[in-house]
Amino acid sequence: MTAIGIFGGTFDPIHYGHLRTAFELFHALRLAELRLVPAGRPPHRDAPLCDGGRRLAMLRAAAAEQPGFVVDERELRRAGPSYTVTTLRELRAEAPSRPLCLIVGMDAFLGLPQWHEWREIPRLAHLVVAHRPGSTAPADGPLGELLAERATQRVEDLHAAPAGRIHVRPVTQLEVSSTALRALIVAGHDPRYLLPDAVRAIIRDTGCYQHPATR
Ligand code: ATP
Repeated sequence: MTAIGIFGGTFDPIHYGHLRTAFELFHALRLAELRLVPAGRPPHRDAPLCDGGRRLAMLRAAAAEQPGFVVDERELRRAGPSYTVTTLRELRAEAPSRPLCLIVGMDAFLGLPQWHEWREIPRLAHLVVAHRPGSTAPADGPLGELLAERATQRVEDLHAAPAGRIHVRPVTQLEVSSTALRALIVAGHDPRYLLPDAVRAIIRDTGCYQHPATR
């Protein structure tokens, strides 16, 4: 069975840094499908500025432009904090032998030991770590050990087992972040060329990220 990619995030909003990473990995890893999984209530950070319904609309608009990209709403529907381990357990139950590739940026990977039941994650999925500007792979500590045990450069290894390997892969570095985009929009600037036009239109039409007084 062909591998599927799972790309979770707050996506507040989704931008070309996310989409280019997803696109490059979708092709490089020969994934059957890439699932964008918006977090409902992320456990490790402030609540998203934009509500789940509008983040979902932006993700759907972005995913509609690329065959193979799908939006998985399960974390928005689930009550309580959005734990990745819960999502992976559900996906694993749905497809017991299918390779699952959890895609994370290097910044997110460096925070993995703070995730709920993080030791379970490599048992449920492969980890695909995309290089981002300013972060390097750890050489020691629990993540250094994990990499020493499980790292592979070979895409075939991700297809040969349902879970358990770690693949660190450079992607085109785009210095775009949702934080910077929100600040730019709040300041009254146009986010054009940093995210898809369809996403920009939703931001404009719904007024999310605008200062409440100007909505
Ligand atoms: P924020 O600025 O609000 O923290 P973000 O832009 O980092 O948001 P998230 O939704 O938190 O976006 O990130 C989801 C995933 O996308 C994470 O694994 C993160 O590492 C990755 N990611 C975010 N921006 C980029 C980028 N420019 N290039 C590659 N990966 C990215």
